Amino acid sequence: MEIGLLGGTFDPVHLGHLIIAEEVRCKLGLSKVVFIPAGQPWLKVDRVITRGEHRLAMVRLAIASNPFFEVSLAELERSGPSYSVDTVSALRDEYGPEVGLYFIVGPDALVELHRWKEPARLAGLCQLIVVGRPSSREEDLSALHAALPGISSRIRCVDVPQIGISSTEIRQRVRAGASIRYLVPPGVERYIYEQELYFP
Ligand code: ATP
Ligand code: MG
Repeated sequence: MEIGLLGGTFDPVHLGHLIIAEEVRCKLGLSKVVFIPAGQPWLKVDRVITRGEHRLAMVRLAIASNPFFEVSLAELERSGPSYSVDTVSALRDEYGPEVGLYFIVGPDALVELHRWKEPARLAGLCQLIVVGRPSSREEDLSALHAALPGISSRIRCVDVPQIGISSTEIRQRVRAGASIRYLVPPGVERYIYEQELYFP
């Protein structure tokens, strides 16, 4: 069995996340893609992250109609900062050595990979799948390659439709009273307004 993993803050989940997950699932013939909302993302300690229960609820609403999508509480249930290597290692133990694990990241996440906890071990536990992201100019991967020689063999690029949506933009739009229709699934849009998330 081959399983895709998509870690993120999902604050909130948006169509960009859903599109990359579906595209990678189909192109690589994966059995499913597991969305893994971060607990306390260690790279984002400089801003307030929406409570995990809200981010989880929005992911659940977003993936409900796709039988090949699942959500994992692994990081939300763990206290302290979320490190991908710990999560993937736990999933590897859970699924066993036979299962192929494909960790999906955008290029903005890939350039920072060498700053993650134990990136070489992470790359040994799963195959890294990099998808395109429009805002990202040609990413400078030289620091990554210098820090992790041989990492290229663990990275595979998958072309996806380029979607210029970010959670940051969604939050800014809600704050500014601008429309987020068609940028997030309707259920997520409704949830944001009902719970008054990202309001000024
Ligand atoms: P924020 O603006 O708060 O950083 P985000 O839109 O980047 O949010 P994350 O939850 O940080 O969303 O992203 C999770 C993963 O999905 C990351 O690997 C990121 O690169 C990738 N990703 C998010 N949006 C897109 C997109 N529109 N196209 C391609 N990859 C994306
Ligand atoms: Mg991001």
